[in-house]
Amino acid sequence: MRSGNKTAAVCPICGREYYGHPALSRTDSETPICPDCGIRQALTDAGFAAAEQEAVLEVIHRHNAMARMDK
Ligand SMILES: [Zn+2]
Repeated sequence: MRSGNKTAAVCPICGREYYGHPALSRTDSETPICPDCGIRQALTDAGFAAAEQEAVLEVIHRHNAMARMDK
């Protein structure tokens, strides 16, 4: 089956494979990075500590998992 926007890419920051829309690195505004690292960079800019960033990501991942189950 073909699915147009399900192209895997490897994030240069965390090295993980990800699918879908990349985020843009805030350091150069052109390097595509995975959505999680995009969120981490945004939270870093907002002054969140690393542990707080992981807590926010956990909430987002849980929300995404629930959204998938709805479909
Ligand atoms: Zn990443």
